[in-house]
Amino acid sequence: MALKDLVHAQTGYNYAFLDEGSKKEIRRKLLKAVALPGYQVPFGSREMPIGRGWGTGGLQITLALLGTGDRVKVIDQGTDASVNAVNIRRLIERTTPDVTTTLKTADATIIQTRHRIPEERLRADQTLVFQVPLPEPLRLVERQESQTRLMHASKNYSRMWVALYEEIVQHGQIARSSNYPVLVGGRYIMAPSPIPRWDIEKLNNSDHLSLFGAGREKRLYAVPPYTSVVPLAFEDYPFAIENFHGVHCMRCGSDSSYLDEIVADNGQKIFLCSDTAYCDERVANQQAAGNTGV
Ligand SMILES: [Zn+2]
Repeated sequence: MALKDLVHAQTGYNYAFLDEGSKKEIRRKLLKAVALPGYQVPFGSREMPIGRGWGTGGLQITLALLGTGDRVKVIDQGTDASVNAVNIRRLIERTTPDVTTTLKTADATIIQTRHRIPEERLRADQTLVFQVPLPEPLRLVERQESQTRLMHASKNYSRMWVALYEEIVQHGQIARSSNYPVLVGGRYIMAPSPIPRWDIEKLNNSDHLSLFGAGREKRLYAVPPYTSVVPLAFEDYPFAIENFHGVHCMRCGSDSSYLDEIVADNGQKIFLCSDTAYCDERVANQQAAGNTGV
């Protein structure tokens, strides 16, 4: 028997995998999330054909939104080629025949992402969907859900501020490198999912809609366009992004993108763009310019 004989066309699945009632509920909860920026809305997270913790929250949002003519891009840590991104893209392709997938950021109407925001500024007609492992930013200072909900309801964030103060006392700075807590619309403290600090600015006053889904924790939340997203910081210990001064991408030469540090075979450290589609496009443009002698 050959392996390809075991692969059949997917039949018997609903459009976009989820049943219509589930998708409708997710869309209703998303509307509530958009109306209350940064507020975590509980939702009935469904069983998905991937494990919880592998992006089921983001995937459910994406599937609930998809319709004829949509173009979907899926990235994982900035790359379209990781196993997780490839499998999610394949599931979307198999269950939504009138939706196309793309690797180009500018071509996509919906971008599902894990741990990064694309380098290109997203437009008003694009939606960014985040896969979120831990939606509750206060979990590190309070274990009980009933208490964190009370703290959000009364905007009582003093313990969060004390935790940040203690980080400065211990480390001389606010040490967390990703999932940096932000204040959304001047009201709710929100976990931006484990994106690097570099990406926080792209959420602030953006043209695009950002949606966040945590499947295991059964929460979704949103940052609508043109909403303030401010990282928590003290006046004398301001928020700072990762520092890439003096280094650039080995492949495309970019010195203005978020770079991954990689140790080469000879032990030397090199840097590459984390956003591989951005890097590919820069390389293609440079080659085109070279070919035409520009
Ligand atoms: Zn590059």
